[in-house]
Amino acid sequence: MSPTSKSGRLEVICGPMFSGKSEELIRRLRRSQLARQKTQIFKHSADNRRTLDHVASHCGDRIAACAIAETQTLAMFLLDDTEVIGIDEVQFFGNDIVLLIDKLVDEGKRVIVAGLDLDFRGIPFGSIPTLMALADEVIKLKAVCMKTGADAHYSQRLVSGQPALHTDPLVLIGAEESYEARSRATFEIDRKPLAEYLKRHNFE
Ligand code: ADP
Ligand code: MG
Repeated sequence: MSPTSKSGRLEVICGPMFSGKSEELIRRLRRSQLARQKTQIFKHSADNRRTLDHVASHCGDRIAACAIAETQTLAMFLLDDTEVIGIDEVQFFGNDIVLLIDKLVDEGKRVIVAGLDLDFRGIPFGSIPTLMALADEVIKLKAVCMKTGADAHYSQRLVSGQPALHTDPLVLIGAEESYEARSRATFEIDRKPLAEYLKRHNFE
């Protein structure tokens, strides 16, 4: 492989809900489009909150995108001459997204992904920790805590206005009606199953 084909790059934008991940992803992708770089934009189709054919931010900003449910389908949509690939809600893809992204970066592509670093229980979400470790650049954004106005790095899930239980389903698509940004001091969960997570990942 020639040194020039190794010019690929992985950028990970993470943080809780409302922290501006999609906003930052859109900003970077707009710049690549302005620079006339061949850009393809995807999001996981589980995020059907406002639109399926755009990546949209809570502040109303949006950019045309293709909604996909599986890594293999995303791979089929990729064009050889694409230079920049953006993926929103990357945590919803299976772990196979890691190998695809690694291959694309090895091929010299710039891959920019955005996703939740922690789930509603405060546990690392899907492939994000691995992608963060492999990345050339990681940006961890913070939202504003809805209780105190402090920096927030948790996504508080609320069910009928009450904190969700750690045994609730992992994925519940929603925005203001189901989630609230919270700081470490105000995040509420009955139990953080961090020990089980570490065991599953052989960190004992
Ligand atoms: P993410 O993709 O991380 O969920 P978005 O890019 O969709 O975030 O939205 C960020 C925008 O959400 C902010 O610019 C702001 O206008 C709005 N917003 C709503 N609630 C909050 C909050 N609690 N903290 C920060 N921004 C918020
Ligand atoms: Mg978003």
